[in-house]
Order: sequence, then C-alpha cells, then structure tokens
Amino acid sequence: MGKGFFKVPVAVNEPVKDYAVGSPERARVAKTYKEMYNSTVEVPLYINGKDVKTGDTGTMSCPHDHKHILGTYHKADKKLAQSAIDTALAAREKWAAMPWEQRAAIFLRAAELIAGPYRAKINAATMLAQSKNIFQAEIDASCELIDFLRFNVQFMTEIFNEQPQSTSGAWNRLEYRPLEGFVYAITPFNFTAIAANLPASAALMGNVVVWKPSDSQVYSAKVILDIFKEAGVPDGVINMVMGDPVMITDTVLASPDFSGIHFTGSTHVFKDIWQKIGTNIHNYKTYPRIVGETGGKDFIVAHKSANPAQVATAIARGGFEFQGQKCSAASRIYVSESIWADVKEQLVTDVKSFKIGSPEDMSNFITAVIHEGSFDKLASFIDSAKADKNVDVIVGGGHDKSKGYFIEPTVIVTKDPKYTTMCTELFGPVVTVYVFEDKKWAETLELVDNTSEYALTGAVFSEDRYALEEAIDGLQNAAGNFYVNDKPSGAVVGQQPFGGARASGTNDKAGSKLNLYRWISPRMIKETFVTPVDYRYPFLG
Ligand code: NAD
Repeated sequence: MGKGFFKVPVAVNEPVKDYAVGSPERARVAKTYKEMYNSTVEVPLYINGKDVKTGDTGTMSCPHDHKHILGTYHKADKKLAQSAIDTALAAREKWAAMPWEQRAAIFLRAAELIAGPYRAKINAATMLAQSKNIFQAEIDASCELIDFLRFNVQFMTEIFNEQPQSTSGAWNRLEYRPLEGFVYAITPFNFTAIAANLPASAALMGNVVVWKPSDSQVYSAKVILDIFKEAGVPDGVINMVMGDPVMITDTVLASPDFSGIHFTGSTHVFKDIWQKIGTNIHNYKTYPRIVGETGGKDFIVAHKSANPAQVATAIARGGFEFQGQKCSAASRIYVSESIWADVKEQLVTDVKSFKIGSPEDMSNFITAVIHEGSFDKLASFIDSAKADKNVDVIVGGGHDKSKGYFIEPTVIVTKDPKYTTMCTELFGPVVTVYVFEDKKWAETLELVDNTSEYALTGAVFSEDRYALEEAIDGLQNAAGNFYVNDKPSGAVVGQQPFGGARASGTNDKAGSKLNLYRWISPRMIKETFVTPVDYRYPFLG
C-alpha cells in the first residue's frame, strides 16, 4: 500500500479552444480530418489487451456523407462475449489490489494525452463518425472527457478521505473496495466523453469492465481505447466488445459475477435490462449496482417577464446544437403569449440563418443526424406535423437523405399542449412550442410537470423573482438539472453534476462523487487495541 498521503493535482476544467479562422488548432483538426477521411480503419474487439478479429463485421460511415466508408468493426459472438467476462475476472485481483495512486496516474495520464497529442484525432473522429461540428466535438470529446478523468481522480481521493471517528481504544477505518465481480458499461452514440467515462469511472475505483459501445460510435471508441492503452490501463481491465446488443447483454447478465451496470442510452432499453437483472437476481453473488442515465423531453418555460431575445437564443442553442441529439436538448417550449411574437421573430430569423452541411466545413452550425433509423423517424414526425391542420411548422420542415442524413431544424407550434411532439423524445432538431395565456403561469407550470414521463433537464426564463421561485419550487421533480435564465444543455463536469430522475434515469450524477460511490462497496474495519478478556460488565455487579 501507499507510503504517503498523496495529494492529487487540483482538478480544473480544460479550457475550450475556440477554433477561430486562422488558428493553429483549426488547421490541425482540418488536416487530421482529411487524413482520416481518406483512409480506412479496422476496429477489432479488444479482449485481454489483444485485438480480436472475427470476420463478422459491420461498416462505419459518415452520417453527413453516408456512402463514404470509414472502415469496419468486428462483432463478437457469444463465446467472445463470455471470454471478455472471463478475462475481466482474471484481471480483477491484481487491479483491485493496485494502490489507488497508480490507478489515478493512469487516468490522469489519459487526460493529458487527450489534452495534447490526441486532441485533434479524437475531435476529428467525433466529427467524422458522429457528425459533430468542431465546437461540439471539442466540448465533448476533448474537454468533457478530460474533465471527467481529472475530476474523478479528485473525487476518488475525497471519498477515500471520508473516514469515521475513532477513539483512543479503537481505530475505525473505512476501506473503499471495488465491487466483487465485474462492471458492464453500455454506452450511447451521442457523447464520446460518456463512452469513455462509463468504463473509466468504474475502472478508476478498482473495478474490471466489459464495455459495449454503440455501433454508431465505434470509430471514436477505438481512439479512446488507444489512449487508455497508451496511458497504461493493464490488459483485461477494460475489454471492448461490439455486436448484437441483446446477445452480449444476455451473456453478461447471465454471469453470477455481474456486479454492476453503467448504462447511458434510451429509457426502454434500460427498463428491459433492469427487468432482466430482476429475473436473474437469484443467480448473482452480489446485488448488482444499476446505474442508468436515459431519455429526456427537456423544456424551456418562459414567463411574460422574460427577455424574448434570451429565450429565442436559448431555444436556438439548447434545441438545435448537435442537431438536438443531446439528452439535455430543449424540445418542448412554453412561451407566454405577450412575448411570443418577439421570441418567434428572432427564433425564425436565427434558425433560417443556420448553415447546414458537413462538419469538415467549420462554418456549418448544423450537420447530419446519426443514422437512417433516426432520420426516418424524424422525417415521419415532421411530415405528420406538416399534414396536421392543428399545428403550424413555422420554420424548417425539410429533410434529405440523398448524401447525408440531413433534417432541417424545425419549429412546430401547437395549440394542444399534449400534442405528440410535446411528449415523445424525438432526439433530433425538432422543437415544439406551446403558447400560453399570460395569466395561466401556475397552470402552465403544472402542465410542464405533468406532460412527460421524463425529468432530465429544464429551464425557466423570467425577470420576476416571484415567478422564478414559483417555477423552481413547482418544478422540483420535473428535472434533475434545472436552469434559471439559461439554456437547459451544456452541463460542465465539476460544476453542474448531470442526471435526471423519473424515466430519465437513476440520477447518479455523472461527473460527481455521487456516481463514484456506486462503484465501491465499503468495508468497515474496527481494530481494538486492548481487547476485553472477561465477558462480565460492571452493571452485573
Ligand atoms: P440506445 O438506447 O439506442 O443505445 C444505447 C446503447 O444500448 C448502445 O450501446 C446500444 O447498442 C445498446 N442497446 C440497444 N438496444 C439494446 C438492448 N436491447 N439491450 C442491450 N443494449 C442495447 O441509445 P442511443 O441512440 O445510443 O442514445 C440516445 C439515447 O440516450 C437518448 O434516449 C438519450 O436521451 C439518451 N442519453 C441520455 C443521457 C443522460 O445522461 N441521461 C446522455 C446521453 C444520451
């Protein structure tokens, strides 16, 4: 064990580079993007530190240029999924016994590799295969991921410092053991940072991991894996398997050593997994930790006292950045009637001014949605809205998948506050507005609270403190991350721990200590210095 009480570097948020025209960072990413676009990669499974090729492959392409192939990735069969589990378990004893400062050093090193030599590559990968514009790639794949790695190390030491009182006669020590078994990380397409953080946070706390990335994020997952490897994550500690998600998950959940799941993705998938865990509960050696951050139907509610330009800007950014594919993206908007005309005018002007196209052209604000399934779903909701006499599509409404999966940023206005696009998570650049009477503030807050099964993010805009207080109080269960006079997206690690409740997840707040607690099982050790030798207490006479 350690020979000192080591202090870790104080975690600071990675500064966001601005990629201004003519800047060296812009030139670096542009060059890397081109090189990567013009070559192909093959992504094997990664089990026990070894690349495993199966010959059963899927292709990776650019959502904004879907005929362009970026490479292939290999898919696991049941035997290989089992082998990832066995490998993780074989690595467990040594990894769990490794002094915490060594684990910290590995992940701090990973953070610095991303901040420096890998920055252009991980950003370019996220632009190419997840269609993020350069700014969205920078704040996700570089800054948020660096922040997760740095802050988690600091949070780990804060947890280790939490120790019980002792007396002169007995020393009480809390030991923060990793879980007994392995952790399964299932990650979504939309954040490179989340894809890396779900396996890394559990591994940092001493756990071994089987990681299944999304088929639509494998390209940048490979960059993450290369970074972890170079940073020194030992063989077997994080194993990456791609393939049929149901088969892999069923294999994992059948293992008696399954001890926790770190999931981010859609609500119905998480609920299915939870149910399967329940069905298998008698087979497990320990009660598995179930952590899931899932869907959202995030709102902005604007009081009559709100500044219309602020509201319009919050919708433009909060609703449409990364094509509305953030779990925190604003998608249902409630605006007081007396400010609606001004909000509408600026919003329509702003949305019409968005430049749409490939992220390679860094002046584009909007790029493509992730894949054809998502495109078709969004197009069908938009077409239904256009055909519905009861709603107005006030801007956007177009879509075209001939080259890339492009959906025009679309604003729908409805008179029905329960219209389908006010309730359903669409996960795309579609925002629906409901205009309410100024005098119905209290009723509208109730509507916001009751309309959706989700409770992820939400925002209130008002210059009136009484109205703000009413919203903060009335909507206390409607969002895990609540914003006052700000857009509901863009949480920063170490500043706004992120997660929602209700159908949005277990609210274990990624990017905070709360999340790390889920990956440890404390052991209390009481050591008595002078041990009694006679059972008789004084009261017995
Ligand atoms: P998704 O649910 O389609 O996929 C997520 C992961 O689950 C992928 O790895 C996928 O392969 C796997 N998966 C899919 N079906 C499965 C099954 N039947 N069994 C086991 N695994 C399965 O989600 P997505 O499209 O990648 O991501 C978008 C969703 O994620 C949205 O609902 C969004 O709100 C949510 N999300 C939430 C947060 C949050 O913090 N709350 C963050 C990001 C994304």
